[in-house]
Amino acid sequence: MTIDRESDHRDTLGEVGELNALTRIFPRLPSAAAELIGPGDDAAVLAAPDKRMVITTDMMIHGPDFRLAWSSPYDLGWKAAATNLSDVAAMGAVPTALVVAIAAPADTPVSSLEAIADGLREACEALAPGSGVIGGDLSVSTVLTIVITAFGDLEGRAPVLRSGARVGDVVAVSGPLGRAAEGLRLLFNEGVVDGEPDAAAAAEVAAQHPEAVAAQLRPAPPIADGKTASLGGATAMLDLSDGLAIDARRVATASGVALDLSSEAVGGRAQLDGGEDHSLLATFPQSVELPVGFRAIGRVVDGEGLLVDGVAYTERGGWDPYAGWNGAAG
Ligand SMILES: [Mg+2]
Repeated sequence: MTIDRESDHRDTLGEVGELNALTRIFPRLPSAAAELIGPGDDAAVLAAPDKRMVITTDMMIHGPDFRLAWSSPYDLGWKAAATNLSDVAAMGAVPTALVVAIAAPADTPVSSLEAIADGLREACEALAPGSGVIGGDLSVSTVLTIVITAFGDLEGRAPVLRSGARVGDVVAVSGPLGRAAEGLRLLFNEGVVDGEPDAAAAAEVAAQHPEAVAAQLRPAPPIADGKTASLGGATAMLDLSDGLAIDARRVATASGVALDLSSEAVGGRAQLDGGEDHSLLATFPQSVELPVGFRAIGRVVDGEGLLVDGVAYTERGGWDPYAGWNGAAG
């Protein structure tokens, strides 16, 4: 397997070895403003002025999480960074640093790893300026796997949990709903040949539906809005990874309340079920003005679970890594 489908570079990870590959990758990685000791020692040292640290990790495995026929190595670096930065933002924190572990087949061109590094760097620069990569590991596997651990700074604020929504709060969202799932649906339907993911077919889909496909392959979550929401009084928050319906139920359950969404404000079934947008879902007291970037889509009410227009919504559509895609996002 080769992960750079268009390249004929002959120097692979297996040929040049780990140290030489790392020498080529390091200069491409973004440095973190909070880095005290960066790559090159046994471990990195990261500043923690708040004396607490937000930590999260997310794994991407070829097959269940991405297809090399659809995602370029650059896309993979971008998305791996974006999804991790988003989980930090969802706590109301500012992302500071990433640690990146990659296992790749020995025949992977080093240029593909350089492209992954470029995607990581440009996502950090675009979505969370000041954040960067402070360390990582490179190993060999038959299945390309990217694992990122991300760190964040609460800057003295309380973390925004899923459990803080109170009856009467406004439910609001920042970022798109259902767009990444629309991209995935298009790729599954049209980016295939004989049922298998196909690079040329995917390129055709991307040319016709650039926004939806980009939202799936290179999501640009509203990272800075996590801090904005925290400063604006958010009582609960998470990022929409598995779909609005599933994730809204998580807030409802954690908070011991029900979330009642307006179908008019949300859009429709595709917006309710579509995952992977990494938009921020937050609740705010009725007394505060919604921070810039957020729009109201519902209310917190007495009860449990999710309601739409006051009626219980029990559809289970969304993304589940074990069950696969079971939504009706079309
Ligand atoms: Mg999350």
